[in-house]
Amino acid sequence: MRCIFCKKDSSNSKSVEHIIPESLGNKKQILSKGIVCDSCNNYFALKIEKPVLEMPYYVSLRGRKAIETKKGKIPGIPGFMKNRNETELKVFPSESNTLKIVVEDQDVWDSIKNYDKVYVPLYDKPPKDNLNISKFVGKIAIEAFAKRVSLAEDWQNDFVENDGLDELRHFVRFGKGYTMWPYHIRRICDENQISYDKKSNKIMEKMNEYDFFIPEKPTVDGENHRLDNLYFVMAIMGIEYTINLTNAGLSRYLKWLSDNDNKSILQMKKSQFHSNLNI
Ligand SMILES: [Zn+2]
Repeated sequence: MRCIFCKKDSSNSKSVEHIIPESLGNKKQILSKGIVCDSCNNYFALKIEKPVLEMPYYVSLRGRKAIETKKGKIPGIPGFMKNRNETELKVFPSESNTLKIVVEDQDVWDSIKNYDKVYVPLYDKPPKDNLNISKFVGKIAIEAFAKRVSLAEDWQNDFVENDGLDELRHFVRFGKGYTMWPYHIRRICDENQISYDKKSNKIMEKMNEYDFFIPEKPTVDGENHRLDNLYFVMAIMGIEYTINLTNAGLSRYLKWLSDNDNKSILQMKKSQFHSNLNI
């Protein structure tokens, strides 16, 4: 068994890889042990996910949405008081559409009691052109692609051998080849996406979702099918992230957007856009 990133032997690896971090609400989308080796898993956790999750937008998002960390803690939302002293608030969702806010700092509490204000900066979107975010989205894209093709038997060796993914692989795992792999971000809906889940008969909150998008039909060369552009499109709490797996270019996607009224494929039926991965 070989790791889908570094291609080294991963037969003895023990870690399970979360495609989207647990701290962003993902408990189910995982790759079983040996698909990503322990060394790559550790690298992604410390060098890519940690700095991304510590960015002001993600700290604020995780606090606002009260998403528990791996250790079951709810992160605080940074704020500051009128006198500029920094503080932290914690939000706990409660049953009746209200928010319970816990203030642990006595000074802040005294201040609130005196009708003073606590300011909480709101970060609406993650930054554009950020190296860590481009690696973060690229890593998720490769893993989500592996998850999609893993339905086929004996897929892993073919996946490792597929050199069409090498440029993105080398960039996200070793920082090689590019100073930046471009990604596209925009808000496509409100942070609170809710949907009705028939199975459990409950209103569920949609935390994240993704799909793949192939704007043009694959070029056929003998038995080989070549994709010029394979886009990965993901939404995490209302923000859409798009990255190209096959080359560091977004131009085909941007053209598609302008030809299609800037719709998101995540809000369309599959028959309305090409997702012809045939898997
Ligand atoms: Zn590896």
